Amino acid sequence: MYYLGFDIGGTNARCALIHHVDGQFKIITSQKHSIRGAQTPRDVAGVIVRVVRQIPAEHHVPALSSIGIAIAGQIGMDEHTILNAPNLNWHNVNFYDVLREALGEDARDVDIRIANDLNAIAWGEYNFGAARSLPSLLAVYVGTGIGAGLIIDGKLMLGADNVSGEIGHCKFPHYKAYPCGCGQTGCIEAFAGGKAIEYRILHDIQTGVVSREALDLGEDEHPTARCIERAYKKRLPYAVDFWEETALALGMLIANAIAILNPHGLLLGGGVLEGCPELLALVVGHIMDLSPRASTEKLQFIKPTLHDDAGTLGAALLCLK
Ligand SMILES: [Zn+2]
Repeated sequence: MYYLGFDIGGTNARCALIHHVDGQFKIITSQKHSIRGAQTPRDVAGVIVRVVRQIPAEHHVPALSSIGIAIAGQIGMDEHTILNAPNLNWHNVNFYDVLREALGEDARDVDIRIANDLNAIAWGEYNFGAARSLPSLLAVYVGTGIGAGLIIDGKLMLGADNVSGEIGHCKFPHYKAYPCGCGQTGCIEAFAGGKAIEYRILHDIQTGVVSREALDLGEDEHPTARCIERAYKKRLPYAVDFWEETALALGMLIANAIAILNPHGLLLGGGVLEGCPELLALVVGHIMDLSPRASTEKLQFIKPTLHDDAGTLGAALLCLK
């Protein structure tokens, strides 16, 4: 059985061809294609069609079993419609129909699945990564935004509206002043997501709370989570407070999720957490302090192992979810 998976980001489409043989999944190839400047649904479908025609032929694949597509956004209950994908600026797009039309007679009998990128990433880590043997997994990612994927009894949990895992939009009264990209206020993503972290630093520079020199930032250098991580290591009081506050917010959020779900595994990933080990250590400390004692007896902390490939590999196996 051969499966093709795509992870459509804001600038790249990653893809992977998987072969399932003798009970094992084998990655035949994984590639990256630029979609910069080609972001209408029709354009992205065009990139997928080219790959569908090219890669299986190059690797002498007799027949594809399925094509899976991961997209950063909310996917409708029909699993065909992209309700909202802010990075691509797609709203209420029936991408399944666009892709079927673009494929024409190619892949006519091939199953096509579309899923939220974090669900695909969690599914990829669950099937290929370190979480493989666990009955349940909560995967929380702090990158540009904050999201999660949840696997219970070996099944990806999708929810009544296909939007399980929107953990970044959990509300806390402290964050009422921060408007979120979702249109609401009070979301933790608007305070502790990567984009929000950058916004908070810029605001503090502009209002004189901290200087560029103190953060070792060049005149035109854009502040990111990594500059706080760097300054935290030097014990700059501003960075210590910044990371303490951010870690408490994330730790409390995840501890609350653990209190509700009691998962066997907790995978913490995403650009901010993977790029900032000091922040990650603080977050883990708060998770252990704030989770109910009984909920962490069997809890295993799991490191992401697939990084940029998790979404494509998970997307390729969406038909097994
Ligand atoms: Zn929100």
